[in-house]
Amino acid sequence: MTEAAGGDSGAPHACWSCHGPITAAALFCHVCGAVQPPRPLDAFARLGFPGRFEVDAAEIDKRYRGLQQRLHPDRFTKRSPRERAIAESQAMSLNDAYETLKDPLKRAALLLERAGRSSPIGENRTIQDPALLMEAMEVREALAAATDLAAVEAIGKRAAAEDRRCIEALGAAFGAGELDKASRQLTALKYWRKLAEEIRGRRAAIAHGAG
Ligand SMILES: [Zn+2]
Repeated sequence: MTEAAGGDSGAPHACWSCHGPITAAALFCHVCGAVQPPRPLDAFARLGFPGRFEVDAAEIDKRYRGLQQRLHPDRFTKRSPRERAIAESQAMSLNDAYETLKDPLKRAALLLERAGRSSPIGENRTIQDPALLMEAMEVREALAAATDLAAVEAIGKRAAAEDRRCIEALGAAFGAGELDKASRQLTALKYWRKLAEEIRGRRAAIAHGAG
């Protein structure tokens, strides 16, 4: 859907109200001030960040909050229903972009997509990494055998450490332009997140005496 440049951020669009030219990322027309609908931009382009894995989380928060403030419903109470609806859809698109940039998993998937790679974590993708499959099986067996919270916590700690390791490895792989490696690490991260969910489920079951 998105090309390497991350959408058409430089291409002119026309303001729906005055038909003046505006950029794809513009929230408001600089001529008439009308709020603009979200254009097809990926998360990096929408929030105005370069397509890199390493991001400044505080800067993303700051920019996101600034943009959302300008779209706050309170500012549109005296506007037409159409403008209120446009502001709302723009705010929703910003939410999506924000969630993508803040989540290493979604961010990595988007970067691979930008590079023309099919997502390794899409639907119906089979895991090709035998070491990862063995590890996951081992964790699941340990989880099934765990009968108290301490045992589950220990497994949870391991999953959390693997999560962090995957994110670090993703940063290194993207930094070095090694997309195959990044793709493998993204698959592993997805897997560890799935296991973390199972670990939370097991913890809840034991805590409620169903273990
Ligand atoms: Zn305009």
